[in-house]
Amino acid sequence: SIFFRLMAEPHFPMSEDIHLLSHKPPVCGLKLLGILAAVGTTVAFGLATISQAFRAESAQQLHAQFVVDQSSQVAVPRALQRPPFNSKQSDVVSSSKASHTVQRGLQLSTLVASGTALPAHDWEITGNFTQASYTAWGLMLFAIAAGFVVWSGFQASKKPKPASAMAMCAVVSDRSASPELAASSAGVQQQAGLRARQLHVEQVPQSTNVAAEYLGVSLPEYVSSHTYAVAVIGAGPAGISVAWNLAKKGVSVVVIDPALEKDWPNNYGVWTDEWEQLGFPEETLGKIWSSTVVQYAENDRTQLPRGYARVDRLTTKTHLMTEAVKAGVHFCKDGVSSIEEGIGNNNSMVCLSGDIKVAVKVPVVAAGHYSKLVKYHSPGAKVINNKGEYMTENWKELVDEKKGSNPWGWKYAQGGAPGYQIAYGIEAETDGPHGYPVDEMVLMDWSGEHLEGDIDEAECNKVPTFLYVMPTDETHIFLEETSLVGRPSVTIGECERRLEVRLKHRGIKIKKIHEVERCVIPMGGPLPILGERTVAYGASNNLVHPATGYMVNRAIGNAESLAAAIQASLDNGLSLNDVSQKAWNAVWPQEALRIRDFQVFGMEVLLNMNLDQSRAFFKSFFSDPEAKEWRQYLAMDLSSRECLEFALGLFVNCSPAVKLRFMYDGVTRDGVTVVRSLLGL
Ligand SMILES: Cc1cc2nc3c(=O)[nH]c(=O)nc-3n(C[C@H](O)[C@H](O)[C@H](O)COP(=O)(O)OP(=O)(O)OC[C@H]3O[C@@H](n4cnc5c(N)ncnc54)[C@H](O)[C@@H]3O)c2cc1C
Repeated sequence: SIFFRLMAEPHFPMSEDIHLLSHKPPVCGLKLLGILAAVGTTVAFGLATISQAFRAESAQQLHAQFVVDQSSQVAVPRALQRPPFNSKQSDVVSSSKASHTVQRGLQLSTLVASGTALPAHDWEITGNFTQASYTAWGLMLFAIAAGFVVWSGFQASKKPKPASAMAMCAVVSDRSASPELAASSAGVQQQAGLRARQLHVEQVPQSTNVAAEYLGVSLPEYVSSHTYAVAVIGAGPAGISVAWNLAKKGVSVVVIDPALEKDWPNNYGVWTDEWEQLGFPEETLGKIWSSTVVQYAENDRTQLPRGYARVDRLTTKTHLMTEAVKAGVHFCKDGVSSIEEGIGNNNSMVCLSGDIKVAVKVPVVAAGHYSKLVKYHSPGAKVINNKGEYMTENWKELVDEKKGSNPWGWKYAQGGAPGYQIAYGIEAETDGPHGYPVDEMVLMDWSGEHLEGDIDEAECNKVPTFLYVMPTDETHIFLEETSLVGRPSVTIGECERRLEVRLKHRGIKIKKIHEVERCVIPMGGPLPILGERTVAYGASNNLVHPATGYMVNRAIGNAESLAAAIQASLDNGLSLNDVSQKAWNAVWPQEALRIRDFQVFGMEVLLNMNLDQSRAFFKSFFSDPEAKEWRQYLAMDLSSRECLEFALGLFVNCSPAVKLRFMYDGVTRDGVTVVRSLLGL
């Protein structure tokens, strides 16, 4: 058991302690002992097994089963007439016509003499204790032992083998390009007690991954022997932004992602005024619309005097990557399988494929929603499905993300389950002009004139979807049928069907589809457990707006404050636990948590609205197109007091049906708690 743990976990604490005492790298100490013990035991078992096979002279110890075909006349092979196969015990003799049992003491030769024929090709011996099987077992054990020896030799050959721990420490000091590590290693050399963890870093094999290129940007390869201050896991918009901001502040950082050189898969829409605040080059926006429209019926709409844009994913990622490289970020093209969190003030180990581990002070996970690398709050009580049965608390498995469906039929989880935005979108070329004005973008088209004939009108009214439209030119357009939020109440397939019906009604014919977007965005739901050593950011930290599904602008924009908190805490020499705590606080200060509760309540209200209520709600939401409050609400940029004022204004303005909805959800969906939290009570 010790042997296997040592092989599997080079940082198994016992080896570390012994290593500290002996001043020897673990491979020379207990590990070697483990290997010898395992090989010795296996060889001994092999020898014992084979010798037992040869000692088994007596046929009584052995079984043999013969399949006999009475129709063919072939002599019994000579070998079968000798012990142990010359059976004296009860053997089963079977043929296609009959099955006989040969009584104890009956010689096989008698069987042949009696006219029972054994065709050479048609007999088999299946006993567990035959000489042949004993020998096979023995040889197999020998092979396993040989395998151990070859494998451990191979593993050892991949690792540096300094004569002593002192020499090892010198290697760390010489090779390390990290001033921090070099300094600490030099100091350690003066001491009799060596720091095992630094030696472990050196023992980690160099990565076999090749540094990726992204559109001509050469990404500097990480150095596995460095102790990075921060490892950012995930190179989505959130991850690269944090890494870039950290590196700008002089923090050593590595970004780890298996898809470094690939484009981001999602299509991002943003408000132009917010994007401009990021200071990114103009080319990062692919197409800009000067105004935005919310449509309630064919002739009923609100025009918002606010520009909207589609992010050019390629240019934006290239921009962020280029800036990150310039600032000194290192990259590793690999997936992270787990994180061994450091205890006390020890570093954490980020585990890559092939047993490679990277030592870091602060791991920051930006690996998308509900990452397995982050610990999330469970609701306390399990989710209850339609039949009242209990089910798993694994948030990632609540929906089928390929279909956007809810296979469990669950509705509500105590403590707050996520809602899901589901959509089916196409980037398409139309056969003739599509008819949408090319200078305005349709944020939401709730019109329902197409809801007749081919479609279940009642269902569409009960579980509404809207159309999101980004016309590029007269014949090129991005169209997305969207369920704003549900659990999930509409599948991606249903969105696709509704889009077809809508386009047919409008007389839009699709000539060619260039790209399809199948969208599942978790919104709201449980937050990570704040204060854990592993920090989360972006969708992994549930930064997605609970009532709209937007995040990209906010994640890029707020990355600076997270980076500043980490840098300041490291510079001030805080313990690593405290550094992580400060990082969490930077993302979720108390006020932000209160605002989020308010937004989550908004989501709960929205996911119960039918088509008419949705129209009425958004009519009052956008009733003053010039107002700053709805902009701030969408940006999660309201204070507690402003949230309450906004909610009150909305309530007063909206239709009686929506008022009822608010009141009902206020009682059943913790609305009172939210108000108390906003009031600071
Ligand atoms: C289809 C869709 C459309 C959206 N549209 C918009 C929009 O229009 N506007 C908006 O503001 N928001 C939008 N969002 C919401 C949000 O902005 C996006 O989800 C955004 O991509 C989240 O960014 P992120 O960097 O946190 O994570 P992601 O973009 O999901 O990136 C995660 C990265 O982590 C990597 N990764 C995952 N696991 C590991 C691992 N174990 N080890 C190493 N790397 C790993 C992945 O390869 C990936 O590169 C959309 C979301 C979706 C799903």
